[in-house]
Amino acid sequence: MALFKSLDPLDEEKKQSPVDAEIEKVKCLIIGSGPAGYTAAIYAARANLNPVLYEGIEPGGQLTTTNEVENYPGYPEGVTGPVMMEDFKKQAERFGTDVRFGIATAADLSKRPFKVTIDDKKVIEAEVLIIATGATAKYLGLESETKYKGQGVSACATCDGFFYKGKDVAVVGGGDTAAEEATYLAGICNKVYLIVRKDHMRASKVMQERVFNTKNIEILFEHNTKEIVGDSSGVNGAILVNGKGEEVKIDIHGFFLAIGHKPNSDIFKEYIDTDEVGYIKTQPDTSKTNVEGVFACGDVMDPHYRQAITAAGTGCRAAIDAERFLSSQRR
Ligand code: NDP
Repeated sequence: MALFKSLDPLDEEKKQSPVDAEIEKVKCLIIGSGPAGYTAAIYAARANLNPVLYEGIEPGGQLTTTNEVENYPGYPEGVTGPVMMEDFKKQAERFGTDVRFGIATAADLSKRPFKVTIDDKKVIEAEVLIIATGATAKYLGLESETKYKGQGVSACATCDGFFYKGKDVAVVGGGDTAAEEATYLAGICNKVYLIVRKDHMRASKVMQERVFNTKNIEILFEHNTKEIVGDSSGVNGAILVNGKGEEVKIDIHGFFLAIGHKPNSDIFKEYIDTDEVGYIKTQPDTSKTNVEGVFACGDVMDPHYRQAITAAGTGCRAAIDAERFLSSQRR
């Protein structure tokens, strides 16, 4: 053992080598901070897995882009998405979850411990990994869409439809989601315009039938959205362009995107099985992926329900599965 501190500055530098300093070993790593990630963290922390959670690109997840959440049990008066996610975070931290800023930029899941790179520099070695990276709703890319997000523009009819009760709204898209959301909104709103860019819908026949048979849905085939218009109280219309190139204005208060979601699974795809869209496949009735010790929960593995409450439920499963996996390794 050296009795004296080295006088060579290079020795000190070597000890602090960025490569060594940037590798950290953890028992349970959770990527993602939506309802799934935080619920997994609450359960994992209470099971003494000392979870480290990286928040990802959108701390709090998709719910932070919603205004009021009224359908999450336990909030009888409703709650805003950002406040609810702050509550989730506090609860996860209360039991010792180490919540950190940072984005997972690469992963090596070829063997345990799994290596996940954060922000292209720090490497975390984890005994178990819980993927809760969510999905990102696709938007058209209009400036006005960003301006009115949460003020009339939404990518979730089930979450926000109720706020447009009795009003006129529009849904963009021609797939199953658009058909489902238009039908759902038709039960709440006065009128629903369904804006479809082609002269036909991609949705399954049964879903199309449902749309065609709903009196207060008007389908605008071969229409594209040019602009969403509004004022300080939110959206009040949209300017569309029809197949002949003519502009058409519709008066609406809600503008719902239903043009698909992109599951955030790209960095794991080399190792983890996904469907053709990128949703992570889990073994029936579990959160287990095809890689032992890697679990998935929330919207990154759920193309069907995509609700905060269902995501939270799968987060709970992932933490329980992770804990049982680690226990089985110790036996
Ligand atoms: P899809 O990818 O199936 O459909 C997306 C729709 O959005 C298409 O009609 C597409 O048009 C349109 N679109 C894409 N980009 C634009 C754009 N820039 N401007 C205008 N329109 C655009 O996504 P979904 O979310 O509908 O469905 C995803 C998966 O989930 C599917 O497999 C679906 O079957 C499934 N699903 C099943 C449900 C159920 O069974 N209950 C409910 C919901 C979804 P185009 O056709 O011209 O490409």
